[in-house]
Amino acid sequence: MLYVVGIGPGKEDLLTLRAVRILKEADVVLGHRSYLSRVLDIINPNAEIIESRMGKELERVKIAVKLSKNKKVCLVSGGDPSIYGMTSLLLEYLMKNKINLKFEVIPGVTALSSANPLLGCPVSGDHCVVSLSDLLTPWECIERSLISALLGDFVVVIYNPSSKRRKKNLEKAMKIILRFRGNVPIGCVKNAEREGTEIWISNPIEIMENLDRVDMHTILFVSNYETVFDSNILLTPRGYSNKYSISENEKRVIESSGAKTKEAITIAKSSAKVAEVLLQNFDGVEKFIMERCLVATADPSILSILKFNRIEEVINAIKNCKKIIVDVEMVKAGIYGRAKDKEILVASKLGKNEEKTLVSSGIDKLKNDIKSQFVAIGNAPSALEELCKLIENGTTPSAIVATPVGFTNAVKAKDMLSELDLPYIVSKGPRGGSNLCVAIVNALLSLG
Ligand code: SAH
Repeated sequence: MLYVVGIGPGKEDLLTLRAVRILKEADVVLGHRSYLSRVLDIINPNAEIIESRMGKELERVKIAVKLSKNKKVCLVSGGDPSIYGMTSLLLEYLMKNKINLKFEVIPGVTALSSANPLLGCPVSGDHCVVSLSDLLTPWECIERSLISALLGDFVVVIYNPSSKRRKKNLEKAMKIILRFRGNVPIGCVKNAEREGTEIWISNPIEIMENLDRVDMHTILFVSNYETVFDSNILLTPRGYSNKYSISENEKRVIESSGAKTKEAITIAKSSAKVAEVLLQNFDGVEKFIMERCLVATADPSILSILKFNRIEEVINAIKNCKKIIVDVEMVKAGIYGRAKDKEILVASKLGKNEEKTLVSSGIDKLKNDIKSQFVAIGNAPSALEELCKLIENGTTPSAIVATPVGFTNAVKAKDMLSELDLPYIVSKGPRGGSNLCVAIVNALLSLG
């Protein structure tokens, strides 16, 4: 009989009773040296012990399968054997070779569940687990999983963050987190529930500055927008306390939604309820603007991509400007109802189809109008790039809302803007769009 035995994170008293019983009865125990050394005191003293190295997992499986025909064989695996462990490897081998073998898996305490309480409780509900090891998975797939998890606003737990040969992946992952979620708190636990435990709370920038501190015995917990950080505790509340109570804020949201009829007010109230739960950690005007974006997109992950710089000046700028320069008609169509006293100039209508894009040549044409006025770019990264160039040459608007969207140049253009210390609101990363831009500008207009 073959058993795949999860031995937990390290300390003996975190082994399950079932694992202990099976290990005591085993005729043969196979595993990586570091795992075997943790259970030597438990294993049946007469059992044959077969040590093997990292990278020899398939060989280990083959031997275990062969010996299990007439012996009780234990294949030990750290933590839980089904999470980045031996179970799937065994099954794959059996299926590929059409071997009909009965085996039993003994679950173990995985690194996530042993490290999570050491930090407080960063994982309390929905989360994603991503491994940075590209030994078996191409980096492109790892990157896609990580980005999807960040966009879904999950708390992201990172296994296999680094190894002596593979520090680059950690650095690349931190850059992605920075881009899609910002410099958020990251809980780090090294050697949870075993010798040499270290617990600290860091962030992507700090981790990149000291890549060596995170090693292959470390697990990382990337906060989401709900996670709170307080004197070394990382907690993602489950949001129950606020679910049914509506604050004063509800009124303001309903007012700014523009709802007039009874039916529309009921709908706005219901949206406000959802928004209130999602916005527990924010306050002030930023919260108000976020509410508008949340209701406009119905996408909670939007909250983690909004960046505000010198927000009071942005509010003053929209109040005092005479002109609003936008990139496309769609932005104008969305804002003119609330901006009746302003002149709205559309770059795409003025541009010429020459060597640049329509909008960027339009922005260039409008340089005299842009100076000290308000600019809102909802669609075209090239418009924002052009604007940044104008700013570098001395044409400075009073404030900017920038949510251009796309996979090609949006990130580059927003990076250019981030380097300029101007009053702005920007959607980080490739996401954004005219509707988001409109939601932000309308929120600003209703504050003014
Ligand atoms: N099957 C194991 C995971 C194996 S992958 C489990 O369920 O826990 C190996 C990775 O798990 C390591 O690189 C590290 O990121 C994480 N890990 C395993 N044990 C750990 C521990 N005690 N403390 C912190 N991280 C651990």
